[in-house]
Amino acid sequence: MEWESVIGLEVHIQLLTKSKIFSGASTAYGAEPNTQACAIDLGLPGVLPVLNGEAVKMAIKFGLAVSGEIVRHSVFSRKNYFYPDLPKGYQISQFDLPVVAHGHMDIQLDGETSKRINIVRAHLEEDAGKSLHELHGLSGIDLNRAGTPLLEIVSAPDMRSAKEAVIYLKILHTLVRYLGICDGNMQEGSFRCDANVSVKRPDDKELGTRAEIKNLNSFRFVERAINYEIQRQIALLSEGKPVIQETRLYDSDKHETRSMRTKEQANDYRYFPDPDLLPLEISEELINTIQANLPELPKAKQQRFQQQYELSAYDAAILANQPLLADYFEQVLTYHKELPAKLAANWITGDLMASLNRNNLDIADSPITAEQLSGLLQRIADQTISGKLAKTIFEAMWQKEGSADQIIDARGLKQMTNTTELSQIIAEIIKNNPEQHAQYKAGKDKLFAFFVGQVMKATQGKANPQQVNEILQEKLKE
Ligand code: ADP
Ligand code: MG
Repeated sequence: MEWESVIGLEVHIQLLTKSKIFSGASTAYGAEPNTQACAIDLGLPGVLPVLNGEAVKMAIKFGLAVSGEIVRHSVFSRKNYFYPDLPKGYQISQFDLPVVAHGHMDIQLDGETSKRINIVRAHLEEDAGKSLHELHGLSGIDLNRAGTPLLEIVSAPDMRSAKEAVIYLKILHTLVRYLGICDGNMQEGSFRCDANVSVKRPDDKELGTRAEIKNLNSFRFVERAINYEIQRQIALLSEGKPVIQETRLYDSDKHETRSMRTKEQANDYRYFPDPDLLPLEISEELINTIQANLPELPKAKQQRFQQQYELSAYDAAILANQPLLADYFEQVLTYHKELPAKLAANWITGDLMASLNRNNLDIADSPITAEQLSGLLQRIADQTISGKLAKTIFEAMWQKEGSADQIIDARGLKQMTNTTELSQIIAEIIKNNPEQHAQYKAGKDKLFAFFVGQVMKATQGKANPQQVNEILQEKLKE
């Protein structure tokens, strides 16, 4: 029997403001516990929260980037619950009137297919503190994080596999860093994901009961946790047992999800508008100013790359979805005006990205600069070296042995362009292999490759493959 999985993600991003969302305390990470929580963050009596305008601007920026509706009149509400790391006994969040409504992001699935994932809402809220359970079996509470501004981005249940969820998450991750509203650091908790998972029969109209897996802090865990959860639910339903709506925790060591608590309903939180804060009124002027200053977004960049450089949708998407990689690509092209863009795109999405991934490096830390890569590509384009030799030179450049030209000189790798010399070598090879020559002439076409191989061996790969082909065709007829 077939099952279809359904996934919706709630992502909390920590906004890159200097101070907290309702106080002037610093948001810097890693300070001594409780040195960055002021009276407002601690919820002491007699204090009043004041909204940080920068956090609002960042939320608007995000909303515009996902083609969302910026809600002109939104409201902060109190979400009431008790937990040691929540000093006020409530979290200030947004409930029925979030700052961003109805956006979407198009994600690139394999090859050329893209899929639209709807964003239901994005709302501003404050973070809670952190319980630390490491001190000699004791628990401590660090309130430095209390009051840090968060934007919670809620997707519709539009994803149908763990893979799709991860693609969406990666694109979102890229976007928020690109917009400069979040540093995206998953280890430090600046970008956290809760995954809602359910399964159903493909033709069921209604969605199944979902479980929510909390606080997944790496792309790999997101994928694994969702896949585990899908299998768990299928196993339950196949045995005729119900899935319970609950919050679950992913244990990455045991690779399983475990029940944490049954899911609260909205009314358990007794939401009500925070009487200490005025409704958030956003002017059209502010929205227009932010819109006018948005950077070129990944999707627009992709379209431009397709048009301007005639890249395939696929290559353009790979580059455009990683803004620093896109910058690198365009930089490579600036050094040599006639460099074929397709050649640059191939090398960047191919050899360069593979080497970066293998070494766990970001493009910003690439040992080969854009200028150096450009130098190598230039030598491929003007046929000084063959594509095969280029790979060897690329490796040497990766080891910081110098520029392409320096390596070509030092190793004597220049492609042979002297056709007379090449003709002589080829004539020699044919003469030394009379048997193969005879067989070739008798119709054994496959032997052509044998001769090419011999020539390449004799020239240490420096012969121009096209010339080798041409000359061999001629001479083997003789
Ligand atoms: P809540 O208010 O309880 O958090 P929401 O309706 O806001 O619930 O949904 C929270 C998240 O759960 C959203 O990302 C949504 O897409 C997702 N979701 C809702 N129903 C399902 C379902 N049946 N299966 C998978 N995900 C779901
Ligand atoms: Mg929710």
